[in-house]
Amino acid sequence: MNIIFFGAHPDDLEILCGGTIAACVAQGHKAWMAVATNGNVGSPTLTNAEIAAVRKSEAEAAARCLGATGLIWMDENDEFLFDDERTRLKFVDAVRQAQADVIVTHNPNDYHPDHVACSKLASDARILSAVRLIKTAHPQTPTSPELFHMDSIAGLRFEPQFFVDISEHFELKQRALQSHQSQNLWLKSIFNTDLTSYVQIQSAFRGLQTGVRYAEAFVQPVYWPRKPVSLPFLQR
Ligand SMILES: [Zn+2]
Repeated sequence: MNIIFFGAHPDDLEILCGGTIAACVAQGHKAWMAVATNGNVGSPTLTNAEIAAVRKSEAEAAARCLGATGLIWMDENDEFLFDDERTRLKFVDAVRQAQADVIVTHNPNDYHPDHVACSKLASDARILSAVRLIKTAHPQTPTSPELFHMDSIAGLRFEPQFFVDISEHFELKQRALQSHQSQNLWLKSIFNTDLTSYVQIQSAFRGLQTGVRYAEAFVQPVYWPRKPVSLPFLQR
């Protein structure tokens, strides 16, 4: 199975579903990580281009750590992700590049504008990816992929429907997050937040909700038609 994970910023996927990506890889699935924006405003000292280059190399290291099949670096400006025709076609093409059976992205109730835009773009790419007359660089998918939304930062406004037990993959998730060194420093400086402890708390809380040590949470939004089968990457 081919699964594409769309995150708005470099590090969102590692924070919110890094354990699930590792679990998918361990089950033999192909996991693609698509990062919509290039993180080009998150630095107290570097230029936009310099921090974007750092963020890209950190994202590549994290993707390698998790065993992702590929990192799709979409290179939109951080904090300026918009749902327009050009960007929508980029998302459609990413789904096609992965030949995705499943799309996972942010949930639409997330608080951050880039997360909300990414959710809309990735969710709307679901149907369009299978439409022959919408042309992009890669060929259309044979059918529309299934769609799941992932947890919010700090679990805000998110009521889980599915949990993935990531206990076995939690260390790898934390290692992948360590690749995002510049973001760790940035978050410490502006929010006094340490990514390692933040992720430990949220993963343990989702684990508490489902009776395992560490978990990540998802919902499947309403759409039609929907395949009547459980997806292997969500099965225990
Ligand atoms: Zn983000």
